[in-house]
Amino acid sequence: MQDSDQRRARLADLNEKMRRCLACPLSRGRTKVVPGEGRIDADVMFIGEAPGYYEDQQGRPFVGAAGQFLEQLLASIGLKRADVFIANVIKCRPPNNRDPLPNEIEACSAWLDEQVDIVRPKVIVTLGRYSLARFFPGTPISRIHGQARRPSAGAASNSCRYVVPMYHPAAALHQGSLRRVIEDDFKRIPAYVDQALKEDEAARQPVLAAVPAPPPVEQGRLF
Ligand code: URA
Repeated sequence: MQDSDQRRARLADLNEKMRRCLACPLSRGRTKVVPGEGRIDADVMFIGEAPGYYEDQQGRPFVGAAGQFLEQLLASIGLKRADVFIANVIKCRPPNNRDPLPNEIEACSAWLDEQVDIVRPKVIVTLGRYSLARFFPGTPISRIHGQARRPSAGAASNSCRYVVPMYHPAAALHQGSLRRVIEDDFKRIPAYVDQALKEDEAARQPVLAAVPAPPPVEQGRLF
């Protein structure tokens, strides 16, 4: 089986497990689980907070007002939903869209880890403070939004070179002054992806350089 087929099969299996999950009380109130979706080998993974009303109805992430804004932001850097992977920290909607509780985040944690492990994104963009807290707990978003940071060991798959914290699109919709901030932060994403790809390329080079060069052959002499 091809690597991409294997990853697709793993993701389908994971989605099925998430849909059957009863690990926390949110499972009792949900209409649909919202596993996440997108390109299996996306360079960029967006991680939001939790499904809202429309996501819960449709079983898809970011399909409400925040999702429309996210799509505009993606378009501003030449991307579509299908080019990236979109997931959430929490896979089931909290009642009345309240903040996720620690036990709910914990119950969903392994799902997200496995999604990152399957997709192997080069850049992870966290949307909002719960997503940020998974990678840089205790760091205020106002201090680091838009900046690319190295993930600490174990916080993301080995593939991920940068984590870029951003404000949540819903926050930008409610607070006009943040709109410009998130728009500007988004414009930095392509450069971070380019840099990550260059680093991947450079990391492959030493392997080639380490292969000893053949001894020089004198002209006209074979051995
Ligand atoms: N907000 C999120 O964080 N995730 C969604 O899927 C929708 C809104």
